[in-house]
Amino acid sequence: MCHSLCNHLPWGHSLHSPALEARFWKDPGSTAVYIRCKIFADKLTSCSIDVNTPKDAAISEMAYGLSDELFSRLVVLRRWFHQHPELAFEEADTAQRIIRELERLKIDYDYAGIGHAVIGHVAGLDSTRPVIGLRAEMDALPGDETTGVAYASVNPGKMHACGHGAHMAMLIGAAELLCNDSPPGPVRLIFQPAEERGGGARTAIADGALQNVAAIFAGHVTHDYHTGQIMVRDGVVTAQSDRFSIRIRGRGGHGARPHEAVDAVVISGFLIIALQTLVSRETNPFHPTVVTIGKIHAGSAPNVIAEEAILEGSIRTSNPDVRQHILRGIERMISAAAELHNAKITVEFGAGYPPVINDPAGAAIAREAASRIVGADNVVGSEHPSMGSEDFSFFLEHVPGAFVRFGAREERWAPVPLHSPAFDIDEKALAVGARFYDQVVRTAHGRIGAEFDGV
Ligand SMILES: [Zn+2]
Ligand SMILES: [Zn+2]
Repeated sequence: MCHSLCNHLPWGHSLHSPALEARFWKDPGSTAVYIRCKIFADKLTSCSIDVNTPKDAAISEMAYGLSDELFSRLVVLRRWFHQHPELAFEEADTAQRIIRELERLKIDYDYAGIGHAVIGHVAGLDSTRPVIGLRAEMDALPGDETTGVAYASVNPGKMHACGHGAHMAMLIGAAELLCNDSPPGPVRLIFQPAEERGGGARTAIADGALQNVAAIFAGHVTHDYHTGQIMVRDGVVTAQSDRFSIRIRGRGGHGARPHEAVDAVVISGFLIIALQTLVSRETNPFHPTVVTIGKIHAGSAPNVIAEEAILEGSIRTSNPDVRQHILRGIERMISAAAELHNAKITVEFGAGYPPVINDPAGAAIAREAASRIVGADNVVGSEHPSMGSEDFSFFLEHVPGAFVRFGAREERWAPVPLHSPAFDIDEKALAVGARFYDQVVRTAHGRIGAEFDGV
């Protein structure tokens, strides 16, 4: 009976999870309905329903000290964000949902409309003190979700494949903790647009996000670490990113008479291989570097020689000299290919994101806050910077701070990379993130006047 009940829940979650215990929440907002199902060896052994908020030690433990009520609210919220993804600079419904949460918490905010940041202001006990900033991203990615979860994207071609829905829920969770127990000074809650494309951090800064901010912190979910681990690293955390678009102009013609044409497809094949040698043959292997061509557009029919081909790609570098060498190397190779194949080839570079560099004092604060939440053993470092990129670097160009990573995978899960259509998180990470943000604010406020004096 329990089984059939659970199967018919509109908001249900798959019971085929190997978890020993699965729980369900009613969406949205109103009185929580909890259904707890115990599963042993893949067989359902019991189900119970509680229409009120249960006070249960096991659940509290799962929520890293967050109250069950707040934890379940964050789960519902994060699932709503996940289900309603919006692309860069189009975050209209997302912003409205954040605003609703800030209003519920009676937090003042600024919002200049679609494409802008939602900026919340928590006053704190002494509003004359410098401000500590916390940042989450609002945008999703293009692509169709394949997770198969009940809360999968309802917006075709859009998905929160980078976990930004979790980041927003964590920040709202922190806001609630900060409202319940005022921090020593003010806190700025920055929900920025367009992290994935277009550098929405700059928009947020132009919107006034960093006014009087003494230090800023942000985190990102990842499967590189399991839930309950937080990665903090000094110095370079993410790589410099640049984009490029190469346009090859040949001469179109009949597929049967190549001698009358200049084949843009053949030239693009030559360039795809040649550009890889910039990394494999021309770059010191001790400086991590990536050149990826992620998009090719050419041709219109199987028997027509393409007149034009466009190759678009991304460059990641961890060293400024290497970056210059790669950029100049692409120019050198396209002009050689043009000469070689009697074509016209041009390249345009797009402004990328600078590297995220954690200030040592900011990283120390993040480390201290993290160890209070997950214990020192679970605060880990990383041997290398990530070759991913992050526009949080724009904030760190103005104020010191740190960017951390929240483990968001159950230990037994096979890791799924960010941006994969199958990416999802272990929701217990929401509790870790909310508590970390709350704690990092209190730790940073305690340090103003010491490490951050005069910055
Ligand atoms: Zn991303
Ligand atoms: Zn991201």
